Amino acid sequence: MKKIILISMTSILMASGAANAATPKIEDFSYSVDKFADIEILRYRVPDFDDLSLKQKEMIYYLGQAALEGRDILYDQNNKYNLCIRRTLEAVYLNYKGDRESVEFKQLTTYLKRVWMGNGIHHHYSEDKFTPEFSEDFFRKAVLSIDATKLPLAKEETPSALVAKLKPVIFDPTVYPKRTNQAEGVDLIKTSANNYYGDNITQVEVEAFYGKMKNPNDTRPISYGLNSKLVKENGVLVEKTYKAGGLYSTAITGIIGWLKKAAEVAENDKQKAVILSLIDFYKTGDLKTYDEYSIKWVEDLASQIDFVNGFTETYGDPLGMKASWESMVNFKNIEVTKRTETISKNAQWFEDNSPIDPQFKKETVKGVSAKVITAAILAGDCYPATPIGINLPNSNWIRHEYGSKSVTIENITEAYDQASLGNGFAEEFMWSDVERKRAKDFASLTNNLHTDLHECLGHGSGKLLPGVDPDALKAYGSCIEEARADLFGLYYMGDPKIVELGLLPDKEAYKAEYYSYIMNGLMTQLTRIQPRKNIEEAHMRNRQLIASWVFEKGKADKVIELVQRNGETFVIVNNYEKLRVLFGHLLAEIQKIKSTGDFEGGKNLVETYGVKVNETLHTEVLGRYKKLHLAPYRGFVNPVYTAIKNEKGEITNVIISYTENYIDQHLRYSHEYSTLPTFN
Ligand SMILES: [Zn+2]
Repeated sequence: MKKIILISMTSILMASGAANAATPKIEDFSYSVDKFADIEILRYRVPDFDDLSLKQKEMIYYLGQAALEGRDILYDQNNKYNLCIRRTLEAVYLNYKGDRESVEFKQLTTYLKRVWMGNGIHHHYSEDKFTPEFSEDFFRKAVLSIDATKLPLAKEETPSALVAKLKPVIFDPTVYPKRTNQAEGVDLIKTSANNYYGDNITQVEVEAFYGKMKNPNDTRPISYGLNSKLVKENGVLVEKTYKAGGLYSTAITGIIGWLKKAAEVAENDKQKAVILSLIDFYKTGDLKTYDEYSIKWVEDLASQIDFVNGFTETYGDPLGMKASWESMVNFKNIEVTKRTETISKNAQWFEDNSPIDPQFKKETVKGVSAKVITAAILAGDCYPATPIGINLPNSNWIRHEYGSKSVTIENITEAYDQASLGNGFAEEFMWSDVERKRAKDFASLTNNLHTDLHECLGHGSGKLLPGVDPDALKAYGSCIEEARADLFGLYYMGDPKIVELGLLPDKEAYKAEYYSYIMNGLMTQLTRIQPRKNIEEAHMRNRQLIASWVFEKGKADKVIELVQRNGETFVIVNNYEKLRVLFGHLLAEIQKIKSTGDFEGGKNLVETYGVKVNETLHTEVLGRYKKLHLAPYRGFVNPVYTAIKNEKGEITNVIISYTENYIDQHLRYSHEYSTLPTFN
């Protein structure tokens, strides 16, 4: 629940490019790699990689290998047929001897690209299953036309049987329609297509199973269910743990091998202990060990290189317990980190002055570390779509006692911003040149600052009242938590203290973020929603919730208006000061819901403001957006790291290159990191 994902496409960055040998400057870098369906694929620079020491480069190389080694895990977690479908399509793509220029072959290529983007057959963001444009007949003929030994056949399975098995999963829109179902009033486990629970298990059974495990008096509970699949064997529920020797053993064993090498070149003993502790967890699957690892990880602040590798975020489980696998390797951007250090140093001031009820405030805000990082490798649930900020660990008691690490991923933001320059978005949707000028001058800075405040302070602020179950808000928990963090950031962006601390250059600057946030939440994020669909994703719900709540509460004072010009709708913010006050009111309201575990209150806010879409406005926004020919979603390709070795096999250098395209990267990954059986 601690990821922040970029929505606003209006920010404009004017960063300076660092000159070095292997990484081109911003102005010479080609960010856009591929476009298909509703997706644009970008590449990101890793500036300063060449300034790292050989040992550091070697470590990034090993951690990068450990990251890619886990790729198959997420496919299997997202749906049990995903690996089979990916492998079948890749086999056809590589071996098809028919007309590769035909419409249907091209449609198959697009479908395969979408499968890579979604790490499976569901859209990475909407989580709806997408269906191919090519026909079932073409699929059957194409699969049967290639050498059967290239296909992921089960024992004694014929290619025809494989086609018959996959047909409904690929083509029938009623089979596995939704990856993670959050819709009210149905069994969320049975109606979710992902693979965290075995077949024929009900939500009631899952809740009872974990309900029994939880001890309300345990102040340091493990993250129950985090690293396992719950299945029914002979009528009894059992957890199949993800570990070496357990579920996903082959992939996890591979990860461990690379982590061992990384431990040998660790920057310091503390970091080495972090890696060894993670290896221990992967070997045992013991969630107490996981907590020990998390504490060591959060306490390692000195190392320049850092990484996430493991079962981390629980967005994919409708009940918010089971974690998807992800990895991100990164290193600290020392210059820009000074900005977030300023925020962290003043954490207590922000907590003390927050507009929430004093009983929900933390007396002492602990260990909010904040840094700006350069991503070096993205994998698992951080790839191809990736967050621009991360705040971990997720365990509430560890966060409370040890704090959390919060990062902003500056080189990813750079790629987004650079790829958006001059794309016509601001011209189409912003009300006037005043808003556009402000966006041009400040949006990149305010956007990054909002992310920093969200991650460094927002998630870490406030506290639960004693005895309140951290999961009390259930399916609404993620949305409420994101809203809380966003509001904390929004409220403070307009505080004079921000200018005083030198975080913004000008007392007008925050208006750039306010305007783009409201415009996005009320209107432009709808470009990501299919016609007649509601909003499902937690971050999107939170943004609409905030924007429509302040719109409604400020209506009498005309704080925000939706106005028509030539039949098109625009957002006008008339009173930024009052808007800030409203953000403060909503923050107080949401903190109360969180602190008291008020499920009904959370549900009511989310369902009233965050879910339903204004259909007329939606249609209009989609139409205007379509004219711009922009892709609403973006993913990334990774750079390629090549280890140069001497005759003794020692690494003498690691070379970074940026030339691999989207198709080649995925085919290579599938070839080099195919670490799991087709069915697990
Ligand atoms: Zn967040």
